[in-house]
This record gives sequence, structure tokens and C-alpha cells, in this order.
Amino acid sequence: MRIDLHAHSNASDGTDSPAELVANAVAAGLDVVALTDHDTVSGHAEAVEAVHALPEGSRLTLVPGAELSCHIGGISMHLLAYLFDPAEPAFAAERELVRTDRFRRGRAIVERCRELGAPISWAQVERIAGAGSVGRPHIASALVEAGVVETVSEAFTPQWLANGGRADVRKHETDPATAVRLVRAAGGVPVFAHPGAVKRGRTVSDQVIADLAAAGLGGLEVDHTDHDEAARTHLAGLAAELGLFTTGSSDYHGSRKTVRLGEHTTDPAAYEALLAQATGAKPVSR
Ligand code: AMP
Ligand code: FE
Ligand code: FE
Ligand code: ZN
Repeated sequence: MRIDLHAHSNASDGTDSPAELVANAVAAGLDVVALTDHDTVSGHAEAVEAVHALPEGSRLTLVPGAELSCHIGGISMHLLAYLFDPAEPAFAAERELVRTDRFRRGRAIVERCRELGAPISWAQVERIAGAGSVGRPHIASALVEAGVVETVSEAFTPQWLANGGRADVRKHETDPATAVRLVRAAGGVPVFAHPGAVKRGRTVSDQVIADLAAAGLGGLEVDHTDHDEAARTHLAGLAAELGLFTTGSSDYHGSRKTVRLGEHTTDPAAYEALLAQATGAKPVSR
């Protein structure tokens, strides 16, 4: 079983359409893929349709999800949410709040970039983002188009878009314990995304993770491209101590990042533990 529980489509900052993501998951030999766009479920319907339309003989299970933008003590963090009821109003309202603030903040970041001499425009960012939940990676792509930086990841430095960087502007982000409760109340399973991704900025303490476990967190994403060996070992130990399952996933973003689908995968036993906790929605199979 090859299980990848974290992937983005162009419903947020990935570059594959949801249908392309499904096709690429089959091509990558995955058995299970989760669609986890930032603060939105708008790619779910297309992905579900694509799974149902897969040719006879191909086999793929889609786990509908999302990745929530959260913030605690000045530190940004991401919370993966799986198999929640997308229509549950409290959680839906919170996703909507974050998405709406992404537009205000995106415009402000573009303004900052222009003040700093980068010839990009909001219209350009809107074109790049399309209908997707707009974020810094779209602005990074605009900076690449304008020749200001060579790659998307080069835009994530203190010079430009990194957390606390010259052109970074904060958006509304949910308190993570609140987010954990919202996900659970919608029947979903919350998993802390890349908790040890130090290259993205400051990370939260073990105490914060323990507090989130007490609030209902289900698991920790341990095998992730932004974690070194020491971080993986530490997080796996912490998860065992706190009774959390651990996942591995690619955090695929299409051509916007270099990571490939299935580059990291989740143990079937952890996937079973996740399924056993979910009541808000069901995985979708061919
Ligand atoms: P936003 O949701 O607009 O705050 O942007 C966060 C997104 O930017 C993350 O989901 C990643 O896709 C991307 N990102 C964050 N840090 C980096 C980095 N150091 N290199 C490349 N992409 C990054
Ligand atoms: Fe992203
Ligand atoms: Fe993330
Ligand atoms: Zn992600």
C-alpha cells in the first residue's frame, strides 16, 4: 500500500487541477491520496468525479481533506484535517474567514513587493492563482515571472516572502486548539502538518503539541521533506508518548515545488487509525 496523505491542487497553491492530481496519483503508483488544499474544499468535487471516471483496472482511494492555517504565540503552523463534513457550518465559516483574509493580505504583500522594487501586480497574481485560495506561492510565481528571483523557493527568504520577511504580511490564522476542536466537531481527524519544518520559520514547542493532543489532535506528520532525521526521530518519540499516530506525506504542490507525489508515505496501520477516528465523510474509491 502506498499512501500519501498531503497534496495540493490548483484549488490552492498546487499547479495540478484536482483531476490532474488524481491522474498523477495513479501514475505515481499510489493506492491512497489525500487532497489537502489550504483552507478550502473547493477541489473536492472535481477530484471525486475524476476518481469515479478512472478506467477499469486502475485503483485509487481519495481522502478528502484540507490544510488549515493556524497561529499560536507568534508562530504560524498548519493543521491537516481529514474526512470532516464539509457542510458543518462552524468549520466552514472558519475556512471562509481565512480565505477571505487571504485576498486582503495578498494585495498588501503585492504592494510591499512593489515598494521594494519588484515589478509585479495584483492582476498578475490573480491570473496565476485563478480560482485557487490565494497565497504566497502565487506571489512567488509572480516574482519568478518578473525575473526578481529564479525559483519559487528563492522567494521564501527574509528578502521577500519568508515568515517575517520584508514583504510578508500576516493573514488571519486560527488558534490551533480551536481548529482541532472545529475539525473534530465536524467529524474530521486533525493532524499537525510538518511540525518540525524549521526552514519555514519558528516551530512550536513540545508543550504546545501536548496541549493540542489534549484538545483532540489525532496525529503528527513525521516523514516530510522539510524534516531532518533528528526531527523525525524526536517527533516519532513525542507521538508515541502522547498516543498520536504518525503520518508521512509528500506535500506535493505540482510544479511549484520539487517534491514528487509519494516521496514520503504513511504506514497502513496509521491510515487505519485515522479512518477509525473519522465520522464526517468517507474516502472515495474507484
Ligand atoms: P501562505 O499560505 O500564503 O501563508 O503561504 C504558505 C505556503 O508557502 C506553504 O503552504 C508552502 O506551500 C509555501 N512555503 C512556505 N515556506 C516555504 C519555503 N521555505 N519554500 C517554499 N515554499 C514555502
Ligand atoms: Fe502550500
Ligand atoms: Fe503546510
Ligand atoms: Zn501543504
